[in-house]
Amino acid sequence: MALDFEWIEPESLEEVKQALSSGDIGTRIVSGGTALSLIMKQGIYSPERLVSLKRVKQQLNYIKADELGNLYIGCMTTLRDMELSPLVQKLAPVIIDALHHVANPRIRYVASIGGNLSHGDAHLDLPPILLAMGAKIKAESTTEERWIELKDFFHGYYETSLEPSEILTEVFIPKQDNRLIGTYMKYTTLSNDDWPTLGVAAFLRIEDGIVSEIRLVVSAVTDVPTQLTEVEEMLWGKSLDEELIEKAALRAYDIVEPLEDLRGSVWYKKEMVKVHIRRVLNQLLLEA
Ligand SMILES: Cc1cc2nc3c(=O)[nH]c(=O)nc-3n(C[C@H](O)[C@H](O)[C@H](O)COP(=O)(O)OP(=O)(O)OC[C@H]3O[C@@H](n4cnc5c(N)ncnc54)[C@H](O)[C@@H]3O)c2cc1C
Repeated sequence: MALDFEWIEPESLEEVKQALSSGDIGTRIVSGGTALSLIMKQGIYSPERLVSLKRVKQQLNYIKADELGNLYIGCMTTLRDMELSPLVQKLAPVIIDALHHVANPRIRYVASIGGNLSHGDAHLDLPPILLAMGAKIKAESTTEERWIELKDFFHGYYETSLEPSEILTEVFIPKQDNRLIGTYMKYTTLSNDDWPTLGVAAFLRIEDGIVSEIRLVVSAVTDVPTQLTEVEEMLWGKSLDEELIEKAALRAYDIVEPLEDLRGSVWYKKEMVKVHIRRVLNQLLLEA
């Protein structure tokens, strides 16, 4: 397959937006290129023009926090920079734990958070965690700047609410309540560093023995990260015990409609959802 496209390297964010402004779907941004190069080699996508962010990396590579503890991460920040960040460790340790198991260090050194989210691939580890944390992203074009909640961002396989004329410039992660305990459970059926067969992000707060906050998001089994609001509602205001955890796991089994792929059949993935919702809730209960 011939790979024939124009390659441009804008010198400023304004020039990047200008390069995207026609809204042509043949024009794409390249950040780390780790995901884009794969879908190009597989013939899934053939760009006419690639807009590299290489020369604007400095401007878009940062991790900052405000006085309230909200995190702001520039789109060109690599997964490795996040993994090594004391700020992320302090304010969002679940992300650090998850990043240790994303691909391998070589990939993490070049893959960016902007690319990880914009790719819209359900088999990625950060989207469910960030969704469960209530994150949002900033999208910019020559004409507009808007914030999109992550829960509204993913539309389907490789589909997000970004317009072709927009660049994702920043990720905002709100301060999490200190009493909230979180975890991300990644289950792989192939090698240990493979894309997940199932990812479960969960955050729980228990006050006076009662669930006062719960967030459960599953990913990889479905085409978009999916918040299990029905299961969450079963748990709110209740005392979390073995019986309730079992009911929640069975409800998750009923609700989630997995897609079959090389990592497992529909039946198998449903079973894994049940097993991992049970595991994740038991783990959080032990830590609470
Ligand atoms: C071998 C391998 C194993 C992997 N395993 C895992 C894993 O286990 N878990 C996991 O989570 N990930 C895994 N990944 C995926 C990796 O995390 C993603 O490839 C990476 O995060 C994408 O980032 P990138 O900067 O390379 O994006 P790119 O490849 O540059 O871009 C990806 C897509 O996003 C678009 N894009 C990029 N940046 C922006 C932006 N700022 N605004 C708008 N659009 C943008 C591009 O146009 C493209 O469509 C793996 C990748 C490889 C190659």
